[in-house]
Parts: sequence; C-alpha cells; structure tokens
Amino acid sequence: MDKPGIVVAGASGRMGQMLIQLIGDSDQARLVGAVDRPDSPWIGQDVGTAMGGAAMGIVVTDDPIEVIAGAQAVIDFTSPAATVALAELTAQARAVHVIGTTGLSEGDLKHIAAAARHAPIIRAGNMSLGVNLLVGLTRKVAAALGEDWDIDVVEAHHRHKVDAPSGTALMLGEAAAEGRGKSLDDLRTPAREGITGAREEGSIGFAAIRGGDVVGEHDVIFAADGERVVLRHLATDRAIFARGALRAALWGQDKGPGEYDMSDVLGLG
Ligand code: NAP
Repeated sequence: MDKPGIVVAGASGRMGQMLIQLIGDSDQARLVGAVDRPDSPWIGQDVGTAMGGAAMGIVVTDDPIEVIAGAQAVIDFTSPAATVALAELTAQARAVHVIGTTGLSEGDLKHIAAAARHAPIIRAGNMSLGVNLLVGLTRKVAAALGEDWDIDVVEAHHRHKVDAPSGTALMLGEAAAEGRGKSLDDLRTPAREGITGAREEGSIGFAAIRGGDVVGEHDVIFAADGERVVLRHLATDRAIFARGALRAALWGQDKGPGEYDMSDVLGLG
C-alpha cells in the first residue's frame, strides 16, 4: 500500500515546521500539502526553502480544498477558527483529521463532532505519550484518595501561548474529576485572585505560569493535612507532540468515522 499522504496545516507555525521535518524524514508517510493562512509570507514558496533548508517540492498554499482532496490525513496545530473550517473540508474528503489545536470552545467542539460523523477525528490537548500516561495516573490517584485531598493543576508554558489553562491542564483536571465520579464543570474553581475565601472541599483549581521558551510543564498536586503527592510531566522537546500526531494520523487510516483521542491511539484504554 502507498504511504499515506499528509497535509500539514499551520505550516509556518512552531508545530507545523516540526511536522514538516518529521514527515519529510519519515518512511511511513509522505507530505502532500502545506497550508498556511492567506496573509502568511510563506504562501507560494516551497515549504523546504521557506524553512531555510532544501526544496521539498511542496508549495505552501492558502487553499486547503485543493490539497486536502488528494490527502489521507490532515495534521492541524493552528487556531480554533482554522480548525473548525478544516474539520468540515477534511470530513468531505473522508480523510483523517488530527487536531492538536487547543482553546476550542463548546461551539467549536459541536462543529467538530458533526464533522466526525463522516470521517475519523483524533483530537488531544497533548499528543505526548508521557502526558497521556499522566492522565491515566491522575484518574487513578483521584479515585483512590478521598475529597479531603485538595487537587490543583499547575502548568507552565512559553511566553507566546495565548490560552490558559492549557489544554493539557484541562485534560488532567477532567481526569481528576472523573476519578471522583464527577465532571470538571461541577468541580472547577475559577482562577484565584483577591479575597477568594477558603477552598471548597472537592474543588479542582488551576494555575498558569507563562514565560520564556518553556515547552510545557504540568503538575497535578494532591494535598492533604500533613502530606502531598505531586504527579509531574516535563516536556523538553516539541518533537514529542509532532511524533504523537504523526502516529495518530497513521493509526487513523483504517478507522471509521468518529471522535478519538490519544488514549485510543496509544492503546491505553
Ligand atoms: P503557532 O506557532 O502560533 O502556529 C500556529 C500556526 O497556524 C501559525 O503558522 C498560524 O499562522 C497558523 N494559522 C492560523 N490560522 C490559520 C488558518 N486559518 N489557516 C492555516 N493556518 C493558520 O503555534 P504552535 O505553538 O505551533 O501551536 C498551535 C496550536 O497547537 C496551539 O493551539 C497550541 O496550544 C497547540 N499545541 C498543541 C499541542 C498538542 O500536543 N496537542 C502541542 C503544542 C501546541 P499565523 O502565524 O499567521 O497566525
């Protein structure tokens, strides 16, 4: 069978460039398109040249329809608006859509769910193996410890990140809430500032640090009287997200329409 053809959306972005490099070097997939937004200076250039390397024979386009039609998968780390538009186009082409974009609203998720009726969509706020293991551990620890253990998720990211808490922090909060048999919407406490009053038992809090070039750090803190358990994941290289996304695109090739996440891809149940 031919190697699946993959389109990278957000080609000039940090994740986009990493994916183009990874797919270009892969013997399991081939790059068939690179999409960026209309005002990007990369439009019309060879993507390899635009990245400062050798030409790759793929011209960056602002017209996703053209390239998606001939692709088996789209890997998308862009913005919520771009991701919603791409979900519809990718579903029309019956291709796999791997979504790494974070900060999606409830309305965005409804559009994505509608698109997933026609083709597989694999979406994860974090595509790394380590984080997805941490999610499973968080669920287990939260289930084992009583509500007298307070749970907070503390995350740090680079200065350019525009949304908070991170998609990963929300995944971890959701896992902690599930461990307690509840939904995060019921337990989530707003960001603390000023006179907040004492902590409500069973609530789950979030704190975000932004600065420098931090790739991504997440701590899930379980705190009780006299002791604390801290589960931590440190990402030091963005390549982990790109590798996870490519693995998801390949995994999705023989899957039917529907919404999947990285625990499906990694077989973590
Ligand atoms: P970035 O460097 O800002 O890249 C985003 C790219 O998408 C930019 O090139 C941007 O172009 C482009 N874009 C925006 N609108 C577009 C459109 N309509 N069509 C095509 N391209 C468009 O950000 P990043 O660090 O790569 O992260 C991108 C997203 O992935 C964020 O939501 C981030 O939180 C998420 N992320 C997820 C994971 C994960 O594992 N799930 C890991 C890392 C990052 P402009 O520069 O012109 O705006």
